[in-house]
Amino acid sequence: MTDKHARLSSSSFLTPQDPSPVVVHGGADPQSPLLLVSDHAGQAIPSVLGDLGVSETERARHIGWDIGIDGVGRMLADLTGALLIEQSYSRLVIDCNRAPGHETAIVTVSDGTPVPANQDVSTTDAALRTRAIFEPYHNRIGEELDRREDEGIETFLIALHSFTPEMQSFRRPWHCGVLHNHDPRFGRIVIDCLGEEGLTVGDNEPYELTDTSDYTVPVHGERRKIPHVEIEIRQDLIMAESGQREWAERLARILPEAIKRYHEQYGSHPTTEAE
Ligand SMILES: [Zn+2]
Repeated sequence: MTDKHARLSSSSFLTPQDPSPVVVHGGADPQSPLLLVSDHAGQAIPSVLGDLGVSETERARHIGWDIGIDGVGRMLADLTGALLIEQSYSRLVIDCNRAPGHETAIVTVSDGTPVPANQDVSTTDAALRTRAIFEPYHNRIGEELDRREDEGIETFLIALHSFTPEMQSFRRPWHCGVLHNHDPRFGRIVIDCLGEEGLTVGDNEPYELTDTSDYTVPVHGERRKIPHVEIEIRQDLIMAESGQREWAERLARILPEAIKRYHEQYGSHPTTEAE
């Protein structure tokens, strides 16, 4: 066994000095129909992986995390009473919106920046990241959805992300994007509500939600058949706290309205029938 493998034994992968992979915020109203999740909210790196061989400037770019979304999520949780579950580790360590083993779960290059610590990661080492970071986060989301189902609380799953204003010299024109796939009903209503605010809203832009390029919504939303949406906000709009507040207030206004319209169109969809 090499030194590297000895160091990366499962029990020591995250040390007591490393942050917990799951950060929970808000939840003042346990009956809130909203459950907020944020796969790319954090920037932490397990101390055993050093700085991944990536400079601080590079890690602070969108490749490392979803800039601004942590502030939006927390303020939105405070405004609505909803629970927010966030991942605290950088997407460069492991992308929690990809199935384990997916080719971009542990990226070797991201938007032109090589990630030295991610070159030739063995299956064993990848599994350590999965167990220490990916699984506790998704287990926590699953537990919360189980609790709500047991208690007959209706849930609308809101996955919060942000996107870079420019990608490969293309200036992205959308203020925000709404992503949906197999069940677009709630997403379409959210698109209407955001459009009524005078915003340019991407419909499955700048990304498409798919079975393979996403994990959180397919597993926790689609598979459980609960209404869901993935919301992407352009990062330059939420870099500063004022913008984060503006968007949190906007979503706190829009999401209850979208739920109301959903009920009007499709009826109430509790995950379990009241007995
Ligand atoms: Zn993201």
